[in-house]
Amino acid sequence: MENIRVYSHPACLSKDNGEGHPERKERLESILDSIQSMDDISIDLNEAPIAQYSDINLVHPQSYLEEMFSMIPDDGLVGVEKEPYADTLLCPNSKEAILRACGSGISASKDLMDGKSKRIFCAVRPPGHHAETNRVNGFCFINNAAVAARFLQSQYDINRVAIIDFDVHHGNGTQEIFYNDDSVLYGSIHQHPLFPGTGLESETGVGNIFNAPISAGTSSEDFLRIFNERILVNVDLFMPEVIIISAGFDAHQRDPLAAINLNSDDYFTMTHDIVEIANRHSKGRVISFLEGGYDLLALAESIQSHFKGLSI
Ligand SMILES: [Zn+2]
Repeated sequence: MENIRVYSHPACLSKDNGEGHPERKERLESILDSIQSMDDISIDLNEAPIAQYSDINLVHPQSYLEEMFSMIPDDGLVGVEKEPYADTLLCPNSKEAILRACGSGISASKDLMDGKSKRIFCAVRPPGHHAETNRVNGFCFINNAAVAARFLQSQYDINRVAIIDFDVHHGNGTQEIFYNDDSVLYGSIHQHPLFPGTGLESETGVGNIFNAPISAGTSSEDFLRIFNERILVNVDLFMPEVIIISAGFDAHQRDPLAAINLNSDDYFTMTHDIVEIANRHSKGRVISFLEGGYDLLALAESIQSHFKGLSI
């Protein structure tokens, strides 16, 4: 049984999106409380460091970061995106949260390659998978998973990285970043139509993008079958040297932003199946990033299932 190393930071709780916003600090509090109440899994909680610009620049140009950070207000909230997506907001404490969310993946990558841990979870916010090379989108500013993938490839003898995204929304940012890069496989199962509207099966990149759009109302059984047939089979064939998970828990039946019917236990099944592939091809190396998930009870339960899967 593997122990799980966790990166988080109080700054990630101080990212404020205002009253009534679904992407709120209570999400992360629920996750941290839940994992710390697990007594059957060994968890090693660490502080996420601030990411260096030189590492973030592996994905996002410096001009993008400077423009984004220049918009941070002294007080109150500032919307970064135009209508109809005016709910991607910067608050006074945003910069540290954004940089530590990304820094978690840098430390996780180093730990993975130094042999400190094989399973690492980045319990951070803001999330990342909607952030494109030059575009803030969908509560996301820096694509944390993408930076980790590029960091691994630039610093270590790692060629093939798979990013598996089971958040209920398509990770348009991750797809855009790697669309012409056959060294990174991106596989996503997501409700469609739904924000951000991308993620059709016909979007295949250079043969490295695998999208499985599913309809509202999809059952847990069908979701797991499609996830296996359209995503995991291709990840297995790709033989990744590291697997990164964009772990959103908003395909849960309780989630208020989507209409898929996963149970909390399904996150064990999916994670277990991913880890089996990692054990086969990737020396067991898995980094998982928190993306979405907006129901607090669903998050508390699902993260325990995810951790049970990661610990096998
Ligand atoms: Zn989502």
